[in-house]
This record gives sequence, structure tokens and C-alpha cells, in this order.
Amino acid sequence: MEELRQLLENNARWAAAAVERDPDYFKRLERQQQPQHLWIGCSDSRVPANEIVAMQPGELFVHRNVANVVAHSDLNCQSVIQFAVERLRVKHVMVVGHYGCSGVHAALDRSRSAGISDYWLGHVRDVVSQYQNLLDAEPTDHRRESLLGELNVLEQALNVCTSAAVLDAWARGQELSVHGWIYRLGDGLLRHLNFAVDAPCDSSELRTRCVGKILAERARYRARRSAEVSKATTAAGA
Ligand code: ZN
Repeated sequence: MEELRQLLENNARWAAAAVERDPDYFKRLERQQQPQHLWIGCSDSRVPANEIVAMQPGELFVHRNVANVVAHSDLNCQSVIQFAVERLRVKHVMVVGHYGCSGVHAALDRSRSAGISDYWLGHVRDVVSQYQNLLDAEPTDHRRESLLGELNVLEQALNVCTSAAVLDAWARGQELSVHGWIYRLGDGLLRHLNFAVDAPCDSSELRTRCVGKILAERARYRARRSAEVSKATTAAGA
């Protein structure tokens, strides 16, 4: 109970500070919310949506679940997308994964059962099956996991593009783009995965193009890291 009381006290201090800075702050928020962005991310406590992109309450519409899954059968997520697109008229939808994701890790680990969440992680295991050859080609578990995190963002972002609310919006000429991003816990930085779509597309062609870019960027990243290590080794030996 003591810990919960602390949270309530923190809230009271936060609200008081907000009013001190701007006396109309909550009155304005109460009257309207006009976010331009819908963030679909992982529930992980280390990836707080608003904080990462420095956005205030009212500026970001957020849906989070384990491993940032967008399933067409998930009425919760699909309702959020519909509300954001049709009512709030957001201009951008970002699917945001992160490296070091427990859901992605569990989806790769066939040796254990995660109980009820196994049903949910089936959506990520579908991504594993789809890209099994690419994942098997990675030399370490760490690299396999980071690649799956990126491919999972790609597939979930494609699912946004083929959701009824988004297709309807594009059909009536509404301005709306869908993006795929990934967050690195180690440096706090978001990376764009070269997925940005603003019109109905051929999923198969887009998938092939994006996977190619993901693999090329990963090769560039490894080359950069290897050059840095080699430079540091040379400097240490000099
Ligand atoms: Zn996660």
C-alpha cells in the first residue's frame, strides 16, 4: 500500500506542477484531444511512448501489447486503429518494436511454454515460420532475435496497411501514412526501418523491398561496428 500511496502523491505533485506552469493545461486537455499520431508499441515498461518522442498528453494516441502485434482478429487493436483513423483523423501510424523484447525472445524459444501468452505469441511465431531461412542464417541467438524484432515490425506494419479502417481511409483520399520503427534500449534511439506507406500497396512487393533494405542496413551496421572495433584495437596496440 505504501508504494501505491507514493504513486498517488507523485500524481498530485505532477498535476500541481503542470497547473503552475500553465493554469489552463487540464481545462484544455479536457475539452479536446487532437493527436496526429497513433503509436502501436510493446507493453515493455522500458519503452514509454510519450516520453521517448517528447510528446505531451493529448499529442499521441497509444496502443500497446506484448510484442507490438497487429492482428486482424484482435478487436481491441482494430478498434483503436479505427477510432484513431476515423474519429481523431491521425496522419501517421507508427508500429514500434524494440530490441531485447521478451515477447520476441519467447517466440524464438521453442523449448518452453509461456502459458496463456503462448496463444498471443503465435502471431510472432507466424513471423518466425515465414522467415525461418533468414533467421537460421544468423550466426548467433542475439542476432537472430534482433532480426526477428525488425521483421516482426515489418509484418505488423503490413497488417496495419491491410486493416479495414486504413484501406477505407485511403479509398476516401484521407492523408495517412504507416511507418515501421524500432527502439534500442541501450542508447534510447529510434530507428526507421525504411517502411513508410501512404497508399494501398502490393504487400508481397513491399515485403520483398523492405526485407532487402533491412538486411542491407544490418550488413552496414555490422561493417561499421567491425571497423570501430578494429580501430580501437589498433589504437590500443599503438
Ligand atoms: Zn517487448
